[in-house]
Amino acid sequence: MSPDQEYRDLGMRRRIPRRDFLGGVAIGITGACAAAATPSLSAAQAPASPDPSTYPPARTGLRGQYPAAVEDLGRIRDGAFARLDEPVDTSEAYDLVIVGGGISGLSAAYFWRRALPDQRVLILDNHDDFGGHAKRNEFTYQGRTFIGYGGTMGIATPYPYSYTAKSLIAELGIQVERNSEFFNRELFDTYHLGAATFFDKEHFGEDRLVLRRPKMDEFLANAPLTPAARRDLMRLHGKNPDYLAGLSPEKKIAKLERISYQDYLLKIANITPEALPFFLGQGGRNNKRVDTTPALEAGRHGSPGFDGLGLDLHEDFREGSYTFHFPDGNASVARLLVNRLVPAALPGKHGMMTIVQAPLDYAKLDDAGASMRIRLRSTVVRVEHEGTGERPGGVSVAYRRDGKLQAVRARNCILACYNAVIPHLVPQLPARQKEALQYGVKVPMMYNNVLIRRWTAFQKLGAASISAPGMYHTTTSIDTASTIGGYRALTTPEEPVVLHLVRNPNSPGLPRKEQNRLGQKELRTMTFEQFELEIRRQLGRMLSGGGFDPAADIAAITVNRWPDGYAYTYDTLGDPDVPPEQRPHVIGRQRFGSIAIANSDAGAAAFTNQAIDEAHRAVQELLVAHGLT
Ligand SMILES: Cc1cc2nc3c(=O)[nH]c(=O)nc-3n(C[C@H](O)[C@H](O)[C@H](O)COP(=O)(O)OP(=O)(O)OC[C@H]3O[C@@H](n4cnc5c(N)ncnc54)[C@H](O)[C@@H]3O)c2cc1C
Repeated sequence: MSPDQEYRDLGMRRRIPRRDFLGGVAIGITGACAAAATPSLSAAQAPASPDPSTYPPARTGLRGQYPAAVEDLGRIRDGAFARLDEPVDTSEAYDLVIVGGGISGLSAAYFWRRALPDQRVLILDNHDDFGGHAKRNEFTYQGRTFIGYGGTMGIATPYPYSYTAKSLIAELGIQVERNSEFFNRELFDTYHLGAATFFDKEHFGEDRLVLRRPKMDEFLANAPLTPAARRDLMRLHGKNPDYLAGLSPEKKIAKLERISYQDYLLKIANITPEALPFFLGQGGRNNKRVDTTPALEAGRHGSPGFDGLGLDLHEDFREGSYTFHFPDGNASVARLLVNRLVPAALPGKHGMMTIVQAPLDYAKLDDAGASMRIRLRSTVVRVEHEGTGERPGGVSVAYRRDGKLQAVRARNCILACYNAVIPHLVPQLPARQKEALQYGVKVPMMYNNVLIRRWTAFQKLGAASISAPGMYHTTTSIDTASTIGGYRALTTPEEPVVLHLVRNPNSPGLPRKEQNRLGQKELRTMTFEQFELEIRRQLGRMLSGGGFDPAADIAAITVNRWPDGYAYTYDTLGDPDVPPEQRPHVIGRQRFGSIAIANSDAGAAAFTNQAIDEAHRAVQELLVAHGLT
């Protein structure tokens, strides 16, 4: 098929809402609403669509770390700001300037305000929206608003929330224990929807969608696998022998810590290499894959092949933690924080039942008369400490906004941004600290939201979520969202719904950090058109048996690329086993005079609770250093 024909068949040139923004200003609108397919609505029926030029969540196209937001970050990393032109002094002075308006930066502002209510605080963030990874995506279609999460999805981690993090969630009015009230769990039963795997012809010889129910052996029998692969996968998913017979439990654990799950499968469980593609899209925590997950972690995560070892590997990842999911993910947590910090932008006291639909006026975030201000589209390029490490003085913070270099002064500064960029922002830091801050390589990730006109194809196929081990996106699922505070989520198959597609780029065989770097490069260099093509191709192939037509059925696309995704976490394969206080993130996050360091990176753990805990620690450090409490 010619590329032109493929473009036509997939609907690549169809007019869907697709706006690319440069510095918050639309630079090209290649499509209006899909007018032909949209039933006409009277003005009274259709709610006013939010204007994307003033309301960032309504922007579609390339979002997440969109190019204009991170352009200067790339230049910072390349040393372009090593010598700074004289910034324009704005004459603005604050008690605290926070760099980074993610959950960590917003929480830091919240904790500071709680301790010192009258102080002046400024939050600077390079994006056109606050929240960092906690990103809200909205689509307006056929008179309805559809909300999706473009990053951080839920209040849930493998580890328990600390008292500090739990208290903050409670103070924001979120009762996590009520989560189940907001999900229609019967819906999938009503339509007989379950999980499926899509086997692609490049890795498995043919394209085939296979439902995972009812039993594993039936699923494997239906999958396009070679006889040897099927036999070994059946063994692995059944009762396994003790592959490490003869070793003591301690020696078994020590061995599992030091080998990858892939090596365990191939060299210890002796499965045929023909079965390996089955494991491609799978892995352990934080998007590690079969080749980068330590076997012990895979075993603890419930991966097959370990039940005969006689070890108690079971780990309840949810124990002591909890689960809560807003339709826009933790963007609602960020919105609740903004409600407390800058009430003029989000008036009224909000809690979990009202925040999702609460209108937010972005123009009021940075009001000159307010003591708490959030300034977006502002990339901090230099933070200079005016005293010495021992004798803290003030801090000068230079940032670029609308192409201009400007500066504000602060008595204190919290860097709640990516930790690896801090050495470039604060050249004064000791060499050992700079080296430590650059140790980790963040995990590249992509959460793409696709609004489809109806989900009858999923209904026909009997699938609500599809894992595709060999394809560009390894999971695709109907976003079940939550029906909360007047927001109506998933309904009938004839109605539109948001699909959520996940990609975690990796390059099997290379060390984990190298894979992360290559994945970051991929996400930074691919265009929206390339991402769109991948989305349309994959949905077309996976859902063809259900009658899905990418050209007709896709109503809108938002790509959320996160080259700087999850914080780097340590593992037993690639990181040295050193005492906790010698870990790079601990050395890296040390306070430097009036500058403290937050962000989930500072906790070497990739979750919202860590972002909150690190904010709390950073605030405490400054308050104690200055005798402010
Ligand atoms: C796709 C994805 C899904 C996730 N899902 C979950 C989940 O379900 N649950 C969960 O608990 N965690 C999840 N996480 C982890 C998430 O990283 C944390 O939960 C949390 O949101 C991190 O917050 P943060 O403030 O530490 O960092 P960030 O959200 O990264 O915020 C840092 C902010 O600082 C800004 N910044 C950086 N440099 C500068 C500069 N020089 N000047 C100005 N601003 C700057 C950044 O652009 C960003 O806006 C997910 C992460 C990703 C990427």
